[in-house]
Amino acid sequence: MTAPASTSFIIVAIDGGAASGKSTSSKVLAERFNLLHVDTGSFYRGVTAEFLRLGVAAADHAAVVAAARELHFGTRLHGRSAAMELGGRVVPDAEIRSKIVNANVSHFAAIPEVRAALLAYQRGQADVARAHRFQGVVMEGRDIGSVIFPDADFRFFLHADPTERARRRAKEGHHDSIAERDRIDSTRKTAPLACPVGAVSIDTTRLTPAQVVETLAAPIEARLPAP
Ligand code: C5P
Repeated sequence: MTAPASTSFIIVAIDGGAASGKSTSSKVLAERFNLLHVDTGSFYRGVTAEFLRLGVAAADHAAVVAAARELHFGTRLHGRSAAMELGGRVVPDAEIRSKIVNANVSHFAAIPEVRAALLAYQRGQADVARAHRFQGVVMEGRDIGSVIFPDADFRFFLHADPTERARRRAKEGHHDSIAERDRIDSTRKTAPLACPVGAVSIDTTRLTPAQVVETLAAPIEARLPAP
């Protein structure tokens, strides 16, 4: 049963590169503090899958802009996680984690109109969380603490050395060019991947997943006792 919402609704922003430890820790924090878990990478992936389904290439700017205007978003809750609906359909996980989406997502995510199309939808997840009586939102991505919720109650930036991140991804069984995605994500003009000013930066290279969680949870716990 979901605990009753109190007035102390919190927003936790977690940014970082691919395989930096965001998803694992976000999910645990969502459980521990009754937060809605929002993985904005999955939103960019869903939109990418849709563009590819329509035959729209990232290099064709006019076609991307036209397709972005036609996107109709909804949200379906899977436990404590928000899944994006596109035209009433949730794009299956196997599709959004596919090799072709891995290879294309950062190219679409670098296009300002694509980011603009997702902006209000991402902020609106806080309303979804309130409506479903969550205690707050834990949102992970690349620009959450800088663009989506610069006034979030907690802002973290996770990073780890590239060899360790590649090892983590390989262990998950994913074929993912994380170094190339990070390069594109960090060098784009709009909302580049970077530690937001004032965010707490954490090097997860030598931390276990449990240690990462405890590092993130400590300041939240101090403010909001676990239910
Ligand atoms: O988090 P994940 O690795 O699944 O994200 C996939 C891609 O989506 C990133 O490499 C990035 O290009 C894009 N993304 C973004 N901004 C976010 C979240 C993800 O540009 N807030």
